Amino acid sequence: MRISDDVLNLKDTLMMDKNYFNANPELGFLEYKTSNYISKRLSELGFEVRENIAQTGVMGLIRGDANKPCIMFRADMDAILTDPDDPNSIKHACGHDAHMAILLGLANLLTQKKNSIKGTVKLVFQPGEEGLGGAASMIDQGVLEHPTVDKAFALHVWSEVEEGKIGICGGPVMASGDEFLIEILGKAGHAALPEKSIDAIFIASQVVVALQSIVSRNVSPIETVVVSICSISGGCNFNTICEKVTIKGTCRTYDNEVRRFVSERIKHIAVSIARSFGGDAVVEYIFKHPPVINSQEEAIQITKLSEQIVGSENVIKSYRTMCTEDFSHFQQKIPGTLTFIGCQSDKYYPQHNPNFYVNEKAMLIGLELFCSIAKKYLI
Ligand SMILES: [Zn+2]
Ligand SMILES: [Zn+2]
Repeated sequence: MRISDDVLNLKDTLMMDKNYFNANPELGFLEYKTSNYISKRLSELGFEVRENIAQTGVMGLIRGDANKPCIMFRADMDAILTDPDDPNSIKHACGHDAHMAILLGLANLLTQKKNSIKGTVKLVFQPGEEGLGGAASMIDQGVLEHPTVDKAFALHVWSEVEEGKIGICGGPVMASGDEFLIEILGKAGHAALPEKSIDAIFIASQVVVALQSIVSRNVSPIETVVVSICSISGGCNFNTICEKVTIKGTCRTYDNEVRRFVSERIKHIAVSIARSFGGDAVVEYIFKHPPVINSQEEAIQITKLSEQIVGSENVIKSYRTMCTEDFSHFQQKIPGTLTFIGCQSDKYYPQHNPNFYVNEKAMLIGLELFCSIAKKYLI
């Protein structure tokens, strides 16, 4: 592992920032203390600071030559409830505390090199990554404009990759994450008079089975797709035929075309089956996060930089996951990469486990990577 003196000199500050965020976790769009801390640190370092973007988002800016590239680095800010039934279980169990500390570490380094920066740099601290649409809100509020961002970079500390390793490749690396809600509409009646009613439970059962045919019969086996039905509810009595059933599920894939195709198939299957039995179906397909698709050109550069840090044998050049990340919204607008920084130590706890923790080693590798990217594109 090769960590530069620039980064090693920032080790104490890096861990101090991380410990602060870790001790003060806040849920999405409620990251007020976090936001204040970041704004203060960026101001002290001499950044031009924009606050309250999409509620609690912060952007630090160093303006350079307008003819040179504008490079953006992004960290997410929110913690999660590790027990949905316990409001006191808020924790940084996804490592966003590490992301923010690393980005502040980069801010520190850029301040030291301010006079050598050739372009413009935007450090974007984004709220509400955990399924709340923070990235899209930040884009709506203009973080990619004035000046226009040319390339964007993010990292994620990742429990499924060993500490000391880096996962990076071009193309899709994280899946899209969409949701669908189907309401099957029938007609209630007495259980002993089935011919006088339209049984929504019977129809829903046919729909659930038929939806499994999308992956197995309609999509090429070469594609990676998940269609999972995760909730079904309806009916209330022993002897009343059910009038309405609600089905909820998720679809995940690496390809936007497949996504659109699956959404159409879900609608067609649900409505056709329901109508064939005399009922009807209303389908709401919610396009939430597109897949994280790394730009090939930048991924080649990040791979080289990663090899310099952890050695070629520790760079996983094909790592992909079906998890989602809303950094993908930025990638829909501009080229960029998301890199996985391995943080799986001897004590393995997966992402979102209350005991999830990121060690100093992974923090240093993450900061070294961000600093290397900044040096490559800006200095
Ligand atoms: Zn997460
Ligand atoms: Zn995360």
